[in-house]
Amino acid sequence: MQKNDIVQITITDMTDQGEGLGKADGYPLFVKDTVIGDVAEVKVVKAKKTYGYARLMRILQPSPDRIQPRCPSAGPCGGCQLQAMSYPAQLAFKRRKVENHIRRIGGFSMEVCPVIGMEEPWGYRNKCQVPVGRGKDGEIRMGFYAGRTHSIIETEHCLLGSSMDAHILKLIRAHMKGFSIPPYDEETGKGLVRHVLIRSARATGEIMVCIVINGSRLPHADVLVNTLRDVPGMTSVSVNINREKGNAILGKEVVNLWGPGYITDRIGRLSYRISPLAFFQVNPVQTEKLYATALDFAGLTGNETVWDLYCGTGTISLFLAGKAKQVYGVEIIPEAIQNAKENAAINHISNAEFFVGKAEEVLPEYNRRVLRETGEYPKADVIVVDPPRKGCDEALLAAVLAQQPERIVYVSCDSATLARDLKILCTDGAYKIQKIQPVDMFPQTVHVETVCLLSKLNSKQHIEIN
Ligand code: SAH
Repeated sequence: MQKNDIVQITITDMTDQGEGLGKADGYPLFVKDTVIGDVAEVKVVKAKKTYGYARLMRILQPSPDRIQPRCPSAGPCGGCQLQAMSYPAQLAFKRRKVENHIRRIGGFSMEVCPVIGMEEPWGYRNKCQVPVGRGKDGEIRMGFYAGRTHSIIETEHCLLGSSMDAHILKLIRAHMKGFSIPPYDEETGKGLVRHVLIRSARATGEIMVCIVINGSRLPHADVLVNTLRDVPGMTSVSVNINREKGNAILGKEVVNLWGPGYITDRIGRLSYRISPLAFFQVNPVQTEKLYATALDFAGLTGNETVWDLYCGTGTISLFLAGKAKQVYGVEIIPEAIQNAKENAAINHISNAEFFVGKAEEVLPEYNRRVLRETGEYPKADVIVVDPPRKGCDEALLAAVLAQQPERIVYVSCDSATLARDLKILCTDGAYKIQKIQPVDMFPQTVHVETVCLLSKLNSKQHIEIN
């Protein structure tokens, strides 16, 4: 196979990133924008020894799973990789993805439950985070990065977000133009406005705007605050200072311009305060199902001591606290822990305690201290972990194993690192996987959240969950 060859292939598989995969005379070709089942004419753009990449030229016969993408930017925008796939096919893809990781990386032959999907898999996001830059024509651009690049595609209204986002972005753009405030330029590191972050609370209608700037102040901020205050639901306006070059969106410092500096949302019966820097799940409808699954897997009766590691604003901790004796939460971002403590207070929960720090340092230190003081390791009944995509640090997994909890509930946003960590937890038959339940938190994208229940083997209180 050579560059520029044009061949006909049937797409038979899909990568984790959502690229179609087919074989031409046994030679695997990766083709973006295709769906399993498509028969397509493709042009080879890169030919390596054992595989190549091709561009879709023409669909000869569409897959039964292929649908017309709703968003006009679905092709160029890198945000939604699966819009050309019907929703049931997306869910099947995600289940296979988790199953493959569990089998290939973890080495487990374990059935994965069907993915819990959404009734309306659109308009679900409560967070809009758009880069700001300048187009070739010199105009301000706000939108989304094109797949695998940093060129910004102007997107009028992202169909995953709320319709109010577009209106707010328009107001900010007008402010920038009116006062000649330059957008940031990634190449030179010059310019001011880098990103706009909008968070909305679905249950209360509250909205927060945070403008990320490469400087110490936003010119004429009072004028912008006055404009934004008129947006229904607007509760807080702030700027975040990020002068670092590089890909991190948010800097460490937030300067509050107006309002209390947080919004309040509800999940189930609990209220949560969310500040700009704190992590909060982006899909509130599915978050309720995710937390309900975690709570179910935790199997609490009211007598348990529970750790919630990587607890963010204490969301899962407080869900668990109602059914446990004592909950301890650990999180690295101080503002999130501040929110977690406030969240415990506003929900009148007194059996949850929170610690700031790296989970892989806090838990081992706690274990050592208790061992020193009592001669024995502390023993949690249930440990919940919900790490970022890179998964858990080995030092943390060792500290979890040292506590020998009856059950471990692993909430994961990357099934590859989940599978890697499960392998460690199940070494020497210490723990056994009981159930793997994916939840679709991010419809139209390749991402999937997974909740996994492990139980200690050789335990008297061993609980079988069906
Ligand atoms: N359970 C929470 C948050 C999960 S996201 C929820 O559902 O809302 C993962 C969280 O881990 C983030 O809040 C992030 O700030 C935090 N984090 C990242 N690395 C960490 C570490 N090494 N130790 C503790 N927390 C960490």
